[in-house]
Amino acid sequence: METNEKKQVVLSAIQPTGTPTLGNYLGALKNWKNMADDYECYYAVADLHSITVRPEPAQLRRKTLEMYAFLLAIGLDPEKNTVFVQSHVSAHAQLGWILNCYTQFGEAARMTQFKDKSEKHPENVNVGLFAYPMLMAADILLYQANYVPIGVDQKQHLEITRNIADRFNGLYGETFTLPEPFIGKTGAKIMSLQEPTKKMSKSDTNVKAFISVLDDTDTIVHKIKSAVTDSEARVHYAQGKDGVNNLMTIYSCCTGKDFAEIEKEFDGKGYGDFKAAVAQAVVAELAPVRDEFNRLIADKSYLNACMEAGAQKAARVANRTLRKAMKRVGFYQL
Ligand code: ATP
Ligand code: MG
Repeated sequence: METNEKKQVVLSAIQPTGTPTLGNYLGALKNWKNMADDYECYYAVADLHSITVRPEPAQLRRKTLEMYAFLLAIGLDPEKNTVFVQSHVSAHAQLGWILNCYTQFGEAARMTQFKDKSEKHPENVNVGLFAYPMLMAADILLYQANYVPIGVDQKQHLEITRNIADRFNGLYGETFTLPEPFIGKTGAKIMSLQEPTKKMSKSDTNVKAFISVLDDTDTIVHKIKSAVTDSEARVHYAQGKDGVNNLMTIYSCCTGKDFAEIEKEFDGKGYGDFKAAVAQAVVAELAPVRDEFNRLIADKSYLNACMEAGAQKAARVANRTLRKAMKRVGFYQL
């Protein structure tokens, strides 16, 4: 029964394709944590999505457990929020298939992630990569999510989700809630440290391009020191200064200072001082997550128990929506 006190629903997911980066953390995970108290939250490790890049099986298994531990390490309470692994809830794949049939080839072909990832992995442009947005739509719609905290790169996928849901509702009557993206003001797109016109990605093969949540202090200092900047040697936010803009964004997210304050702080100083300060701010931001991760990853049986309980909670909600959608489409019910 719907009551006025019912909390709004939030869903988001992250692929176990690597260790979360500073980009994932500032663009998505930090908001996941911030929303955890005020919303009914469903957070998933998107392992079904990650096989589009064909990970080595042992690696996929290990990364899935690790990503799950990260979600708890950022401070999510598995009792209060539903934290689960996508492949443990079969409704995702089932609704994903159904939604494929309510999506036009042309609209899926416009997705920039498909184009980018096809270019990055020309040897494996599989149909799963193409169908990614419809599976993502299923992830979201199964929980009747109101908000989806994501980085800017996923905005287009949220738009297609809304279009698919709207089309389905139009054909069969209200079935799915139309979700809104929740994108933070700063940090929604952290760029690569080496190619600051491209987003930071955990699956990047150049490890100097990203800061991982597990990097130690020396590594963080070193990576930020070698981040690409420009020859102007002046800390200010401006068009064409992608590298500096990115470092300013990172510094702003970690310290809460705005760009004007940052410009003043580093007035008359060079990039050396600025980079040292950025590195210290990043270290301070990530250290608690890293420590908590190291504690949790040593306790596999606790993680397994949380995963199992999370999958059961998620499946109850997801199966309800799946049954409703299947009935509407006309599948024979026993
Ligand atoms: P992959 O390279 O495997 O796609 P990814 O780093 O893009 O990895 P995802 O698992 O695809 O990570 O996305 C998880 C969440 O992190 C999404 O909400 C996405 O929008 C967000 N995100 C990813 N990269 C960035 C970034 N550079 N800045 C801000 N948010 C980001
Ligand atoms: Mg991605």
